[in-house]
Amino acid sequence: MPHKGWRCIDADDLGETSGVCGMCGREEIRYVHVMEHPEYPEHLEVGCVCAEKMANDYEGPRQREARLKNKAARRSRWLTRKWRVSRKGNLFLNTDGFNIIVFPCKQPWKQGKWGFKVDDGFGNNVYASANEAKIGAFEALWERLSDD
Ligand SMILES: [Zn+2]
Repeated sequence: MPHKGWRCIDADDLGETSGVCGMCGREEIRYVHVMEHPEYPEHLEVGCVCAEKMANDYEGPRQREARLKNKAARRSRWLTRKWRVSRKGNLFLNTDGFNIIVFPCKQPWKQGKWGFKVDDGFGNNVYASANEAKIGAFEALWERLSDD
């Protein structure tokens, strides 16, 4: 397995420290960096320190990991933010320049389900609870914020 010449193509938050570094075998990794090498057939998922060495990049992996940590911290505070109730009885939150609405679905075949809207964009899914819809909205918001 080559030790140098890798490129980081993605980074992921496992949500718990359950990962193992594919390069050095270190355990209890939460944030994995997905590495690609032109002469190696598989992608390798590794920890931040190994990602830096493998790609000879001492900024990129750290930035990606900081971003994921920031996202995880925001996600954990998301449900306890001050959601307000609109005149129509929907929950809403104005944040990061977006208007986020969580609402009970009106269609009879979606009874008891919840949906969300980020500005004018409706979420694609329906959710079993308002909190699940809020998390769905958070993921959609994060996508929007990551676009620029
Ligand atoms: Zn490692």
